[in-house]
Amino acid sequence: MAASLNQKVDALVKSNPEAAKKLEETIAALEKTYLSGESAEGPIGRLGRGFQTFKSNVYDKDSALFDKLKTGQWPKYMIIACSDSRVDPATIFGLNPGEAFMVRNVANMVPAWEPKGGYPSVSSALEYAVKHLKVEHIIVIGHRLCGGIKALVTTEEGQGSHDFIENWLEIGKPARAATKAVSGSDEVDEQCKFCEKESVNVSLTNLLSYPWVKEKVVGKKLSIHGGFYDFVEGSFQVWDFELNVSHSQKF
Ligand SMILES: [Zn+2]
Repeated sequence: MAASLNQKVDALVKSNPEAAKKLEETIAALEKTYLSGESAEGPIGRLGRGFQTFKSNVYDKDSALFDKLKTGQWPKYMIIACSDSRVDPATIFGLNPGEAFMVRNVANMVPAWEPKGGYPSVSSALEYAVKHLKVEHIIVIGHRLCGGIKALVTTEEGQGSHDFIENWLEIGKPARAATKAVSGSDEVDEQCKFCEKESVNVSLTNLLSYPWVKEKVVGKKLSIHGGFYDFVEGSFQVWDFELNVSHSQKF
């Protein structure tokens, strides 16, 4: 059958240059669709297909969970992670809907307590998670090759050309200072490695500046942890943070 098809194609190509050109175009389009990983469905269609897969494999198969979630949410965790497309906590921890209340922003930063300041996206999510959802664990997760941290490490204070990014990253200023003190003469990547973790500790320290966070941590109703996802070597590290860093575990 295949040989017969090949023979037909050969004959067509030899006898009809116009048909040969059309055939080449068709093959190129088929290769683009099926061999390059791209799909004719388009980027939004890709999301629709993803949702259909989720609906049939997860939503429709766990009515007990989704019926419960219709009545509320009781997440045990609040996770603060980077917006980076490679570090989605739901993916790397295999979290179910309802398990984690989440904030993602550039370089997984938590600003210090500043009541009534600006548009407090992180602070309001934190307040809801702690006061209303009563989460038991807050985990701030940094990651390897963080573009935000690289910008923090390599941009002088007051410099930079973005409308918002450098200003936001100033939350991590103490981490930059610690990095320059400890690792300032190293290559940029080494400095980033240090700062990616140190900035998590800055955010954990900032968490304790919220009076209702500190009160719950002191009362042992809430624990806060630092985390670090290294997708270069494929590892995850987590450490407890009380009033100092302690008890590190690597997976
Ligand atoms: Zn990042």
